[in-house]
Amino acid sequence: MLPPFSKKLIAHVDMNSYFASVEQQANPFLRGKALGVCSYLHEYGCVIAASIEAKRAGMKVGMTMKEARERVPGSVFVQNDPPKYRAVTSRVFTILHELTDSMEHYSIDEAFLDLTNWYRDSAEAAWALTRARARIRDEVGEWLRCSIGIASTRFLAKTASDLEKPNGLVIIDKYNLDEVLAGLDLEDVCGIGSRIRKRLERMGYKTLLEVKRAPIGNLMRVFGKQGLYLSCKLNGMEFEKVVNARSNLPKSIGHSYCVPDRVNREGKIEATLMRLTERAGRRMRNLGMRALQLSISVGFRVPGFVVPRGSFWSPLAGQGVFATKHFGVPVDDSFSLVGGALEFLRKEWKEELVNFLAVTLFDLSRPTGQLCFLDQAFTYPTWNDSVNDRLGDKRHSVSEAMEMIRNRYGEQAIMFGSMVSLSNEAPDRIGFRKTEGVDVTLLQ
Ligand SMILES: [Mg+2]
Repeated sequence: MLPPFSKKLIAHVDMNSYFASVEQQANPFLRGKALGVCSYLHEYGCVIAASIEAKRAGMKVGMTMKEARERVPGSVFVQNDPPKYRAVTSRVFTILHELTDSMEHYSIDEAFLDLTNWYRDSAEAAWALTRARARIRDEVGEWLRCSIGIASTRFLAKTASDLEKPNGLVIIDKYNLDEVLAGLDLEDVCGIGSRIRKRLERMGYKTLLEVKRAPIGNLMRVFGKQGLYLSCKLNGMEFEKVVNARSNLPKSIGHSYCVPDRVNREGKIEATLMRLTERAGRRMRNLGMRALQLSISVGFRVPGFVVPRGSFWSPLAGQGVFATKHFGVPVDDSFSLVGGALEFLRKEWKEELVNFLAVTLFDLSRPTGQLCFLDQAFTYPTWNDSVNDRLGDKRHSVSEAMEMIRNRYGEQAIMFGSMVSLSNEAPDRIGFRKTEGVDVTLLQ
């Protein structure tokens, strides 16, 4: 016996061809063209987003720039620009936040909204979302399009938003669920890949509707607990909550970089580590958070160690060191963070050739007004040295001033002297499943 169909009202909003659309919005000359956004502009750079025009012509995400150009002659390419995408996402999400107080930033271009009790039914929710989409078009950019899915669970809402692209709006409810599932391929939903597909086909199920109607026992015999979950999801039961963006803060923030030989030759290891630490620190400060601990990984290049072709290889699989620094009190200023990172590097690194660097800030917290007061009242007096105390205060205000300059004039406007020699080492990257750093305006 299955529990009843979920009575919630969930929407999934997915921006279409997001990075490419943002680039086309920013530069009218790119509009209507087959555009590929690449990780970096090189023959073997990877296409991480393709415009709607490019997709129609056969360009796929994951192709190298060379393959993409061969497949779609006349296509144009640009290098990805994460700050631009984060800024646009922040504006789009601000509009969506007006629909409900419970919204999850699922990735840089996707959000789940819990609209239960905010709208009477899916039709009213569809009306509100269509208006929000028009506002995104008018207030953020006419080239931005999104697909909307409305259903009673997260899983079905995401399935719905995948059905019509670009600019679709699909409602799945208990009346049309069977019809929708009958028309879908097994791999069309989140969570079923080629391996699960093969096993389902061996069991004799060819469409999702057949899987939905399959006895739970049969699915559990083959897939265990996952079989039960799959059956529940297809039958419209919810067991995942929409995680509110305001409580959806990261547990750790980090940056890593695979270090090329050139950086070793030019003696820029320390400076590169400083930049990684500054990047992580800046993102953390943007979220109003502070870190109690910092960890660093340094991978050494081992002579004669060859990466096995086509295998997944971790940069630390060769040789390396990993260590953690505990600050004692939560910190967020550049001096403490960069100082902590360098102190460790100088202790552990004996000028070996480095091939990998990573910095992670963790044990994160957000000071509330009360905690600040407590910090001042109880933590400071324990640092007996009053000179140290004043120095700490000064460092903090210098760090804050540096941040304001960067916010206004860009990341390169002010930096530690030893970082001046850096050119394009450790570039900014964007994670597909990470949205920290996006919701700056919403969190204040
Ligand atoms: Mg998308």
